[in-house]
Amino acid sequence: MAELGIYIQVPFCQTKCTYCNFHTGVVSPGRFAPYADAVCREISHHRTLLESAGISMSGAISGQTHSVDTVYIGGGTPSLLEPELLSLMLDALRAGFECSFTEVTLEADPETIEAEKAAEWAAAGFNRISLGTQSFVDEELKAAGRMHRREDIYRAAPILRAAGIRNISFDLIAGLPKQTHVSWRQSLGEAIALGSEHISIYMMEIDEGSRLGLEILQSGSRYSAREIPAEEEMAAFYELAQAELKTAGYLQYEISNWAKPGFESRHNLKYWRREPYLGFGAGAHSFSGAQRWANRHDAAAYVAAISEGKSAIESVDTLTPTLALDEEFFLGLRQLSGIDLGRIEREYGVSLRERVGELAARGMAEMKGEILRLPAAKLSVSSEIIVELLRSVQVAAPAAR
Ligand code: SF4
Repeated sequence: MAELGIYIQVPFCQTKCTYCNFHTGVVSPGRFAPYADAVCREISHHRTLLESAGISMSGAISGQTHSVDTVYIGGGTPSLLEPELLSLMLDALRAGFECSFTEVTLEADPETIEAEKAAEWAAAGFNRISLGTQSFVDEELKAAGRMHRREDIYRAAPILRAAGIRNISFDLIAGLPKQTHVSWRQSLGEAIALGSEHISIYMMEIDEGSRLGLEILQSGSRYSAREIPAEEEMAAFYELAQAELKTAGYLQYEISNWAKPGFESRHNLKYWRREPYLGFGAGAHSFSGAQRWANRHDAAAYVAAISEGKSAIESVDTLTPTLALDEEFFLGLRQLSGIDLGRIEREYGVSLRERVGELAARGMAEMKGEILRLPAAKLSVSSEIIVELLRSVQVAAPAAR
């Protein structure tokens, strides 16, 4: 039986971080239960809802052929919800799908973690916590509008361990306002010292839709907008992370992700390997192998649609072979393990050996047998390399999946 990932989006936060442009809202806790109820309904009625939105479920994903092995509840800040509501969502999955959970992740912010809650998460079936640490330096956290401080991280980690969570991932952001080489080294060092099994490092991207982005556009100084590290500094932060994490025994398995051996995120690997996943909740995305679709972002509109028995899907894209080929490279080559070029050439009827050979000669790509990968030192320019690789490629065969 093939494996299926489930993503559940909880789009609520306590406040809006200055750099954030996600579709998340600060709402009254009274809205959490109706939202969780809508998610459970969407899960229970997913077949009917998908069919009503024109999603072809035949072949691609079906209860007869797929078993749910990974679940990821992200946001937003899903750890704000009462544990009982999160538990109901997992129960809805167990009732609606063939399930054999191996990795069940909850995103949590450090300041929301309490012993009782953590114990309830573990009892419900969560076995992995993705902790939104971002930095271990209070002035950076404060400038970014985060609710937690360094001491919250030190309080949260032992609570999670005591609850029996054996797999903790720390998120860090490289390029926060006020960040320096010294403070970045400190955050890396503390994440390592706390014994996290997994570390994700995101490069700060300034989006015009965020408060910080708007401030920069207006040449203002609020949110420490004039104290953002330069691009070269950020590149140096990334290289420092690669070196320090390697020394500490973490394997880099993806552009932004490092893990102790055996702790790679099984769920996130599905995204880069183009394996199927279903998303539930406002703004959640899904992929069947042939189609991608997304729910509407607005949480209130999502709840209203599901309560009326209607689909909340607002966009459906059927992949052309050319788009599917692009995805094979743009997603697949994020992984350090690379992609099976032989399979891709056969499936899409393309020949890329000559171009790969040219890139390899310039140190931009590596071929080992049939496996194509990008050198770790070139990951920061992966997009440029892939664009060059796929320049004017004509797809001759449909993507058979
Ligand atoms: S906690 Fe995450 S989703 Fe919420 S506002 Fe901050 S960055 Fe955005």
